[in-house]
Amino acid sequence: MKYDCLILGGGLSGLYGALRLQQRGLRGVVLEARERLGGRILGFAPAGSNIRFDLGPAWVWPEFQPLIAGLTRELGVELFAQQTTGAVLYEDPNLPAAQRIDGPSPNAHSWRMAGGAIRLIEALAARLPDEAILTDRRVVELHRRPDGVEARTVTADRRKETFVATQIVSTLPLRLLADSVQFEPALPAEHRRHFAATPTWMAAHAKFLAFYATPFWREAGLSGEVFSRRGPLTEIYDASPAQGGPYALFGFFGLPANARRQLGRDALTMRSLAQLQRLFGDAALAPTGWEIKDWSDDPLTATPADALAPAGHPAYGLPDALRTAWDGRLLFAGSEASAGHGGYLEGALEAAAAACERVAPNPAATGNATQPGCFTNFHRSH
Ligand SMILES: Cc1cc2nc3c(=O)[nH]c(=O)nc-3n(C[C@H](O)[C@H](O)[C@H](O)COP(=O)(O)OP(=O)(O)OC[C@H]3O[C@@H](n4cnc5c(N)ncnc54)[C@H](O)[C@@H]3O)c2cc1C
Repeated sequence: MKYDCLILGGGLSGLYGALRLQQRGLRGVVLEARERLGGRILGFAPAGSNIRFDLGPAWVWPEFQPLIAGLTRELGVELFAQQTTGAVLYEDPNLPAAQRIDGPSPNAHSWRMAGGAIRLIEALAARLPDEAILTDRRVVELHRRPDGVEARTVTADRRKETFVATQIVSTLPLRLLADSVQFEPALPAEHRRHFAATPTWMAAHAKFLAFYATPFWREAGLSGEVFSRRGPLTEIYDASPAQGGPYALFGFFGLPANARRQLGRDALTMRSLAQLQRLFGDAALAPTGWEIKDWSDDPLTATPADALAPAGHPAYGLPDALRTAWDGRLLFAGSEASAGHGGYLEGALEAAAAACERVAPNPAATGNATQPGCFTNFHRSH
């Protein structure tokens, strides 16, 4: 069957793009390599709890991010303010104890999604027909055809399929796209160079989450927020749900990917818990559970080049020439394609909206709305 559009990737950008195409009555399908949706958005429920904690993005800034503000409203995903009440701690390697800093937190404008960022993904997926989202479909090749485009996919059990459409919107991180998908005809060298030079935001990083029965740091007048030059966690925040427990702290490792790999999960966990004890006291040594997610080890997010984090926030966006690849049949979205908010959730939405606006209806596809796989006509009941 021929679609109006194939959307590569079922992260936030891909699902939002699919929703926008559905709203315009266009036919398409999301091809997602993993068994799960969400991409860098990942929820983790500790043993004995059904509350999902964010192993990927946690924060949005609705004050400056109109698309995320609008989408969370549209989908009924509630926002709550990051917990910042209490003092911030600062660890200096040259001082014996952490310094306590009272006053407003630099994170006072950050908001979180009730139920975790994964709620956004679930709410988007629920708006799309089941047939319009195919998981376990890793795109390995894209082909230009005289009348359109073709994507070849492979499943975990090596089953191959071909999908045909008028246009493609890729939402894969640009560097990953260049590293893992073959183009026929090949993209010009300058495009490949641009992709290879575009770091995937946060792909070099790893998060540590520790769960607790009580928020003992709050009881000590601390916000849970820490900036540390001792490590192994360089930034720590309260990651508890909007109300009640399990309570949680999360931190970003300061160690680079290769050092984390050498140490291994057990040593990283021991060192992280020892740091939390140093900062918050012995109660930190009795977590009810913990989890590490190292994004640099995840081949559907990071490439070997992402092992080193960029020095600052890269300048994202697409050069003009990339807006007309394959005569406009091959469009690029995903957060790293956004010039305004590249790297962030807002950027994933911005880039998807811009690319999907340029998808035109294919008369052959829209003429037969009863075939499965179209965005229109079907809605999940849940
Ligand atoms: C630890 C961490 C913390 C972060 N914190 C924040 C934050 O607080 N606030 C914020 O705004 N942003 C944050 N970010 C960034 C945010 O997660 C991203 O901007 C956003 O999720 C990108 O969405 P996307 O859909 O563009 O890309 P992705 O989520 O990467 O989606 C791409 C999709 O493509 C799929 N895919 C890959 N290869 C193939 C293939 N060959 N075929 C088919 N599918 C494929 C992937 O499985 C994935 O589902 C954070 C990221 C991380 C990792």
